[in-house]
Amino acid sequence: AKDFGIDKALKDLGLTDINNGTSTGKDFFSNGEIIESYSPVDGSLIGKVKATTKEDYEKVITTASNGFKEWRTMPAPQRGEVIRQFNDELRRLKEPLGKLVSFEMGKSYQEGLGEVQEMIDICDFAVGLSRQLHGLTMHSERPGHRMYEQYHPLGVVGIISAFNFPVAVWSWNTALAWACGDACIWKGSEKTPLTSVACQNIAARVFSENGLPEGISCLITGDYKVGEMMTHDERVPLVSATGSIRMGKIVAQAVAARLGKSLLELGGNNAIIVTPDANIKNTVIGAVFGAVGTCGQRCTSTRRLIVHEDVYDKVKDSIVDAYKQLRIGNPLDENNHVGPLIDKDAVKNYQHALDKVVEEGGKILVEGGVLEGEGYESGCYVKPAIAEAENHFEIVQHETFAPVLYIMKYKGDLENALDLQNGVKQGLSSAIMTNNLREAERFLSVEGSDCGIANVNIGTSGAEIGGAFGGEKETGGGRESGSDAWKIYMRRQTNTINYTTELPLAQGIKFDL
Ligand code: NAD
Repeated sequence: AKDFGIDKALKDLGLTDINNGTSTGKDFFSNGEIIESYSPVDGSLIGKVKATTKEDYEKVITTASNGFKEWRTMPAPQRGEVIRQFNDELRRLKEPLGKLVSFEMGKSYQEGLGEVQEMIDICDFAVGLSRQLHGLTMHSERPGHRMYEQYHPLGVVGIISAFNFPVAVWSWNTALAWACGDACIWKGSEKTPLTSVACQNIAARVFSENGLPEGISCLITGDYKVGEMMTHDERVPLVSATGSIRMGKIVAQAVAARLGKSLLELGGNNAIIVTPDANIKNTVIGAVFGAVGTCGQRCTSTRRLIVHEDVYDKVKDSIVDAYKQLRIGNPLDENNHVGPLIDKDAVKNYQHALDKVVEEGGKILVEGGVLEGEGYESGCYVKPAIAEAENHFEIVQHETFAPVLYIMKYKGDLENALDLQNGVKQGLSSAIMTNNLREAERFLSVEGSDCGIANVNIGTSGAEIGGAFGGEKETGGGRESGSDAWKIYMRRQTNTINYTTELPLAQGIKFDL
């Protein structure tokens, strides 16, 4: 690890005291059991943090609620200025943070840097947004009345995030929520606690340098039990949760039971449709990156390839060939394409999927397997695999968070491909590869893809922050990041002002006393 500058990265991020579980920053009160963070890259222990206890949580929620009261009164453009300063720090620390993301999560260093770049981009967006939290004005039906709507800060926003985007998802939520005047409490993934501490320390430092109260950014650490403290807490009006569908169903019910709001960003089962008019070279690049990038651990990873029979063999052979070029190994080494899975449980799920697809009648086109020997000591490195499968197989209907690509054939009209593409419970990302305008437009039409993201001539993964991000059906329906996703972090108020000496009633109702 030292060869790749991890120690320096930890030092640059101020994480110098992380082996006794006391690496607490400001606004970080955890005193519970020790959580150890092991790198999937080489299996080494990176550091330890303490989990949040119930008593710690009470302190956090009180601090956040108090912080919110002050933060909400600061004019939004001034809040934007604080976000700009936070963003300067991200720019300054992009390399060490990107490196820690890579080492703790296992994605490539380039992707680690890309993830921090997403944080930078969303902060830029949030700074502009801080001057654009617009409401509408309407014409009142009553004379001498004015009617408009405005957006006020919502309160304390709870953020629960997954291991695979350990820092970007937090910033998608916080940057907007802070611009909107909310305080945030973040429970990062228990699998990537150190990146959470690093981010929290940066945020807390910037708030403190601006003389702002503690609690505008808070971190709680631990597993689902710590997450549940927020989902059941009515002092948290909005819970934004990113992770598995299983988790989303539990969180949604807990939050709904107290009539809170939830924003859910859950699993996908993303497909690329390849039509006879596709550019095959681009299809191969898009599909391979989509399937093996981040070792298949993106919510938008390509899981299914739905290929027209006319080009099936050509596409299949080209992709199988491309897989032969893949170099698997340390993600900090830029020569490698594929890094490790997050942990050994993920390896088991991967192996299970490969067994299951064969059991259900699928045919393996590119063999999988767990790598052993020098450089693979963590036990988390696997070979990206491809199986010929049918859409209705139980395992194909399920999101396996690993580099397993299912390839299937469609015949005749595009409608048949769309039936397969939409024929799963998830609805996150989708793509079509075609140079045929009719097919492309049909894919995007009301009768086309039912996903939150539908791309033409690019793959399923790699969204930009400018658009709203999220998906339909069991993906949870939430939208984060760009466009008007900010509205969920605010409460909307409709205001009617009477500037006459009369009191006319709406709908022309007469009520004379
Ligand atoms: P996970 O569901 O195991 O955990 C996600 C987070 O939820 C963790 O912080 C975990 O501690 C917490 N959690 C789990 N159960 C909880 C409960 N009952 N109450 C409160 N919190 C709880 O997911 P993971 O393995 O970390 O991440 C992989 C999953 O995340 C995949 O399904 C992937 O598709 C999905 N994901 C979706 C998006 C998206 O934007 N749609 C983005 C990234 C990841």
